[in-house]
Amino acid sequence: MSPNAPITQDVLTIPRKLPEGKINLVGLTRDQLRAVLIEHCTPEKQANMRTGQIWQWIYQWGVRDFAEMTNLAKAYRVQLAEHFVIEIPEVVTRQVSEDGTRKYLCRIAGGHEVEVVYIPEEDRGTLCISSQVGCTLTCSFCHTGTQKLVRNLTAAEIVGQVMMARDDLDEWPVPGAPKDETRLLSNIVLMGMGEPLYNFENVRDAMKIAMDPEGISLSRRRITLSTSGVVPEIARTAKEIGCLLAISFHATTDETRDVLVPINKRWNIEELLEALASYPNVSNSERITFEYVMLDGVNDSDEDAHRLIDHIKRHNIPAKINLIPFNEWPGAPYKRSSNNRIRAFANIIYHAGYASPIRKTRGEDIMAACGQLKSATERARKSRKQIEAEAGLSK
Ligand code: SAH
Ligand code: SF4
Repeated sequence: MSPNAPITQDVLTIPRKLPEGKINLVGLTRDQLRAVLIEHCTPEKQANMRTGQIWQWIYQWGVRDFAEMTNLAKAYRVQLAEHFVIEIPEVVTRQVSEDGTRKYLCRIAGGHEVEVVYIPEEDRGTLCISSQVGCTLTCSFCHTGTQKLVRNLTAAEIVGQVMMARDDLDEWPVPGAPKDETRLLSNIVLMGMGEPLYNFENVRDAMKIAMDPEGISLSRRRITLSTSGVVPEIARTAKEIGCLLAISFHATTDETRDVLVPINKRWNIEELLEALASYPNVSNSERITFEYVMLDGVNDSDEDAHRLIDHIKRHNIPAKINLIPFNEWPGAPYKRSSNNRIRAFANIIYHAGYASPIRKTRGEDIMAACGQLKSATERARKSRKQIEAEAGLSK
């Protein structure tokens, strides 16, 4: 992007009313759900109880049809179906990688598409969800960044990705059956398409629903929000969501970070570190994950590793550093650092007393790895030349 181009937050929302005039109940907070029930077919006296019952049907049992809500009177179920729907994004394609990673292409209102990735591991399963179609930011190493923002996802579309994955994993509990503690979908990372802190309210509402104990009931310690560094929203995330935080750090000088993560021109490394230093106390959470993509000859020197440690130590931030081997995509202006370089970098960090896991690349054969997501139907693809020019790499 040109140095003076504004880093904008395009807030585009779509009305909750669907074309046929029905309201989607998915994604409403408990208060909003109660309000729409009262507005339509529910006496105020019963509203609290009905809200609780319908909430459990939707988020605990995964029911999509009012007729199945057997603890509600038949006539009331018919009324509900007249006014409301329970709708989640539709799966268009589903690809399964050799390593078991699943990538879903989902269609949302307006014909837009987002990608969702499920990564199974030995003792847990992580769902990587998207918060926007495209991204307004233009990090030069990120495939999503080459797709202009189309719109913010609604809370329904964000929590709907989790519900969609539970459908596909066939993981909704059956009423009456013994509770199964093993979970295929045990963790959520907001690391798909988009900048979650530029869609704050919808992300917050969706994550609150995912954490609600009478529903999907994931602990806030199993949800990680990744941001490129929207500094003013970091404190808000601590207070209003309280999940774990990951930061796309990627460079140790402002000069390099300005190119890799252009939001750095708005809030630089020092301002970002100050915001991060207060996060753990306010959110009562643990370490912050520093994500660091390894780009050959750009940010991977020993000096970079030492500077990174200095930054973290100077601000006394409880941290773990997640090294991400760069995933290539067509037209990408960078190369992945060699395995030896990545290991040497990791060693310096480890000897300074910080965990420095190297992220295992998953689902690369189906373009599901970090930074490779982009709607397949997206036509307005930037040319390689344009990407290089914006990354300051053109001669
Ligand atoms: N917008 C948010 C969340 C989505 S990106 C953010 O920037 O944090 C999720 C992670 O994947 C980020 O750390 C991002 O920097 C990283 N990433 C993006 N492109 C990548 C690529 N090509 N290879 C490896 N990691 C990439
Ligand atoms: Fe957007 Fe994150 Fe990609 Fe940057 S790394 S362009 S903020 S999705």
